[in-house]
Amino acid sequence: MKNKKLIGFHITTKYGLSNIVLIANKLKIKAFSLFLTNTNLINKFLSIEEIINFRNNCKKYNYSSDQILVHSNYLINLGHPTTNGINRSRYLFFNELYKCKQLGLKLINFHLGNHLYKIDITNCLIRVAESINLALNKFSDIILIMENSAGQGSSVGFNFEHLSNVINMINDKNRIGVCLDTCHAFAAGYDISNNYYEVFDKFNNIIGLKYLKAIHLNDSKNKCNSRIDRHTSLGQGMIGSKMFKWIMLNNELNKIPIIIETPPKNWINEIYWLENLIKNY
Ligand SMILES: [Zn+2]
Ligand SMILES: [Zn+2]
Repeated sequence: MKNKKLIGFHITTKYGLSNIVLIANKLKIKAFSLFLTNTNLINKFLSIEEIINFRNNCKKYNYSSDQILVHSNYLINLGHPTTNGINRSRYLFFNELYKCKQLGLKLINFHLGNHLYKIDITNCLIRVAESINLALNKFSDIILIMENSAGQGSSVGFNFEHLSNVINMINDKNRIGVCLDTCHAFAAGYDISNNYYEVFDKFNNIIGLKYLKAIHLNDSKNKCNSRIDRHTSLGQGMIGSKMFKWIMLNNELNKIPIIIETPPKNWINEIYWLENLIKNY
């Protein structure tokens, strides 16, 4: 079977936004993800030149907004327990969404947030949902994609119930989705190494597969239920190959961006490893 997936990598912003598109094209990948801000530049505005070059390169190399997944900054906490904290996070988040609009991008993937041991999970999820509703009201063309967490520290979103609780509180359900990170799911206790079929069944029953709008395809350095978020190159961690093969063979996943978030040194091998899994099908 030929690889029909929109698979690609998370590419660093350090070379500049428009160069990310050139790198993606060179790698011959059909999807990519990027940060619009890094820790130092969290509030930086985009220049007209950056915007035009990025848009032109996307057009030239045939990358549509369905193939580009923006990754929101890790410092943003949409479930922050304090008023000041949540206001600041929402301000920074809206700033990113504005940049998406400028760049013609619509898919934004973000981590739900952390309760910081000051409020309970339920109240944290309520704050996350409020943040999402505000964002969707303010920005009409974006789709917000929540990522499951590994359950490290006080993060929420590590189980499917959290994600479905948030979806239930969202007014415009056509513009909310989930990005399943395979490393995080495994670290949070979902044994996708052996029981991947059951895990996806559970995802469908609790959340609904129609909400699966992106995948982060990572192997895990640590064992199942470790609650530690350590990605490793595909085939080199604890997840094995069965689940990855199943994803590659699943034609229902042909239209969503599948992003590998591992160090660049193994990228070529990872694509080769994935394609090798399905070569006899
Ligand atoms: Zn991820
Ligand atoms: Zn991670």
